[in-house]
Formats: sequence, structure tokens, C-alpha cells
Amino acid sequence: MEPNNIFDTIIVGGGAAGLTAAIYASRRAMKTLLLTQDIGGQAATTDEIENYPGVGFVSGPELMNKFKEQAEKFGTTILTGEVLSVTKEIDAEGKLIFVVATNTVKYVGYSVILAYGLTHRHLDVPGEKELGGRGVSYCATCDGPLFKGKIVAVVGGGNSAVDAALLFAKICPRVYLIHRSGDFKAEAVLVEQLRQPQIEVVLNSTVKEIKGEARVQEVVVQNINDSTERSVKVDGIFIEVGYVVNSKLIEGLVELDNRKQIKISPDAETSQPGILAAGDITTISYKQIVISAGWGATAALKAYEYLQKTRGFRGVNIDWGVAKPLVAIKPKVDN
Ligand SMILES: Cc1cc2nc3c(=O)[nH]c(=O)nc-3n(C[C@H](O)[C@H](O)[C@H](O)COP(=O)(O)OP(=O)(O)OC[C@H]3O[C@@H](n4cnc5c(N)ncnc54)[C@H](O)[C@@H]3O)c2cc1C
Repeated sequence: MEPNNIFDTIIVGGGAAGLTAAIYASRRAMKTLLLTQDIGGQAATTDEIENYPGVGFVSGPELMNKFKEQAEKFGTTILTGEVLSVTKEIDAEGKLIFVVATNTVKYVGYSVILAYGLTHRHLDVPGEKELGGRGVSYCATCDGPLFKGKIVAVVGGGNSAVDAALLFAKICPRVYLIHRSGDFKAEAVLVEQLRQPQIEVVLNSTVKEIKGEARVQEVVVQNINDSTERSVKVDGIFIEVGYVVNSKLIEGLVELDNRKQIKISPDAETSQPGILAAGDITTISYKQIVISAGWGATAALKAYEYLQKTRGFRGVNIDWGVAKPLVAIKPKVDN
């Protein structure tokens, strides 16, 4: 293996979690590689971020480019590509290493930080893609406040969907909760709270089409029992039908929950020593930019500690100021 392809840590994913992990790892003088399919992940797909502390209102691409610039400033190597597998091996010195492979290159990491996020499941109906970000949203916590006083539809039957409908009932005059089944998967205590005059529960129904000129104006809903259709005037539609997770690249390597999210400890450790995980891909409850960033920082600091313990790694010990690698102090010579 080319020494150039060997890193103290390899981060998989260039969203909020991965880029923050990169900033922290590089500032501890770890030789850091970040492999990602894109820069910014989910956050880069929205024009309106209002809840990232300290920056007020910012577009996703702008915020995520700042993350990237900061990581590069501290020395992270960022390469674009899809990671196809992460496997563990024992090197010639009998030490644990991780091989991270894209379709063209293999890299070795003494530690790995998994931050490959997730994708919100789509309905795949006409109008959904075209009106994305213009009334079609996948995140009530993020975009909900923009719909104060408006009419909205929420799609789904789990905790996220019911939670979203309850949130909107506090700020919107009318909320349609559309669910394809006759029963909710959400906790009973939440479902009970749906009995409010502002909320209309539309069961056994699917969204057939989302319509609008510049923004969402209407959804076409079809009853799956009798195929009857109905048009509902709305200003926004929140699609809360779960996530798609691609866990193939780490199959059998770390423990996952039944939704294929990576199980982590309060220090971002996975079941495999040397592999940390951060952000939306993990079992954390809330999927938000600031939360992913926080977990990215935790994962990098824990990776540093792991390298100290397993390889006697001496980087730097500070997280403030401009970090410099430790250098041997020359003994003072008296003339
Ligand atoms: C439309 C939208 C609007 C949102 N608005 C807000 C908001 O206003 N405020 C807020 O706090 N949160 C918001 N969120 C949620 C927030 O964006 C996410 O919680 C957060 O960005 C997750 O960051 P992450 O780094 O954990 O994962 P992700 O952002 O999912 O990043 C994962 C990264 O991994 C890469 N990747 C995946 N697989 C591979 C692979 N095999 N090889 C290499 N790279 C890979 C991807 O390319 C991506 O760069 C929004 C989400 C969406 C979809």
C-alpha cells in the first residue's frame, strides 16, 4: 500500500457530521481523508436554514461550503467518490487496520468515522420533485415554522408524521394527515392527541399528485379502498414516510438496529473498536444539522483517543487556536 494512501482516520460522508469530524480530526494533527459522494449532504439540498446557531438565515450550500473550507484549511484531504466497502484487516505488524474501498482505489485507515447519512423516502408521485423546496418538504422540524398560518398536509403514519401533524396544529388553521393504512404505527399517546378540530385524518389514502405553479397549491388524494379521488388545497406538504439507508458498505462490520442505523455509545463508538459513527446514520433520535455536527466532533475526538491508546499517537492536545503538531523541544544548551 502506497504510504500516501494510509491515513490516521478516514471519514465516509461529507455532510454536517463528516465535515465537522474532519475539522476536529485535522486540528488534532491526524492525517485525515474524507471520502464523499457530494459536499454538504442533505443540508446542501435546501435553500433555507434558519436554525443553525450563530448564522441566522443561510442557504444550505453556503453553510456547507463553509464547513468544507474550514476542514480543508486545517489539512483534511477531501476526495469525491462512492465508498463501496469498509473491511478490517491485520497489518504486517499485527495491528488492526481498516481498508476503505471505492471502485478504483483502496485506502487504509487506522480508524474510520462513518457519517454516510441517509435519504428521506420519497412518494415518487408527479409534482414531488418539481415542487421540492417550494412547498414539498421532508422535515417538519426544519421547515415547519415557515408555514405558520398556512394550510398543510402531512403524509405518513409513524411517530414523525403524527408529531409533525401535532406541531402544525399549533400554528396552522388546517392540517390534513394522510396515511395509506387504517391504523397508525405511531405511539398511542400521540395518536390520541390527533383529536383536534384543526386536524383532519385521511386514512386508507395515498397522495396521487402534487400540483402547483410556482409553489404547492393542491394535492390529489386517492382512497385505496374505492379508488375515489379528492383534491385538497394546501400551501405545503410534509412527507414523513421514513428513510432509505444504504448499509451495504459496512455489512457485518458494526451492529445496526432494525432500521439499519448504526448503534453508537455516548462517545460515538460503534460495536467495532476503531470505527466511530456520527450523524443521521446513527441511532440518535433527532436528525438535524447542529446535532450531526456535534456528533461528528465527538467521533473525531474519540478516534484521536483510540489512536493514542492503540498506536501511541501524538498529535496535538488542543481544540482551540490554530493547532500545530507537537514538535520535540530542543534541550537548552548553556554556553
Ligand atoms: C430538504 C432538507 C431540509 C433540511 N433542513 C434542515 C434545517 O433547516 N435545519 C436542520 O437542522 N436540519 C435540516 N435538515 C436535516 C439535516 O440536513 C440533516 O439532519 C443533516 O444534514 C445530516 O447530516 P449528516 O452528515 O449526518 O448526513 P447527510 O447530510 O445525509 O450526509 C451524508 C453524506 O454521506 C455521503 N455518502 C453517502 N453514502 C456514501 C458512500 N457510500 N460513499 C461516500 N459518501 C457517501 C453523502 O454524499 C453525503 O455527503 C434538512 C434535511 C433535508 C433533506
